[in-house]
Amino acid sequence: MTHSAVQCMKISIIASGSKGNCTIVSDGQCSILIDAGVSASRIVNALSELELDVSTLKALIVTHEHTDHIRGIGPLTRRTGIPVFCTQETWARSKNIIGTIDKVFHIESGISFQIEHITIHPFSIPHDAEDPIGLTLEANGRKVGLATDMGYATQLIKQKLKDCQALLLEFNYNRDMLISGPYTWPIKQRIMSKKGHLSNDDACSLLEEIIHDDLQHLVLAHISENNNLPELALLSAQDLCNQCGHRDVHLTVGNPYKHSPWLYLK
Ligand SMILES: [Zn+2]
Ligand SMILES: [Zn+2]
Repeated sequence: MTHSAVQCMKISIIASGSKGNCTIVSDGQCSILIDAGVSASRIVNALSELELDVSTLKALIVTHEHTDHIRGIGPLTRRTGIPVFCTQETWARSKNIIGTIDKVFHIESGISFQIEHITIHPFSIPHDAEDPIGLTLEANGRKVGLATDMGYATQLIKQKLKDCQALLLEFNYNRDMLISGPYTWPIKQRIMSKKGHLSNDDACSLLEEIIHDDLQHLVLAHISENNNLPELALLSAQDLCNQCGHRDVHLTVGNPYKHSPWLYLK
């Protein structure tokens, strides 16, 4: 197979968690980064270990302006020339941190756009940022859905995340661990609020409504290092999949320090 050939869609989680988030979706011909919340060199190294042809990198989409999603954008775009796609409000809030970059394209939640043959659909999510978005990326009848950093799962989110073969969902905190954990009460309240983050239980309730026979991959993302354990998130997701009779879903835990292997969509 030549470098230009379109392969099946695949996804790798380069980093996930409150220290930094970055995901790559590729079909071999067109590759799209979602967020760059870790250093540019970490991203470039991960892409090289994944043997991604950097000439296929066509876009970096930014979900919102929190540091754990934008930290590496300036250095990465200045190094690779990759164009940035984000909403006007997200850009207004993040441009001082990102600094000068050549190519910024504004997108709007609810309005799909195309990068080569990949159709991207941004949708609004409730979070304490200016204009946060979740995304679906679709090509060749395969769809990846990504939604982290959301206080609760709205009807819109549930509707948008239906029918995805791969889902990257936030499993941020375990409620008991958060409540008895080290954070101050105002921060605990912020995390649990309707503009905060999803707990393991919240994520499972969402999953229960959208799980289907053709869901192949579930990525447990944005797991808090202080208020959750990967084992707990995994256990709750596993239980839910088993209860719903979907034992074949491949589960991956997003790691803050190490990129995942490629997850292929059949
Ligand atoms: Zn975040
Ligand atoms: Zn956030």
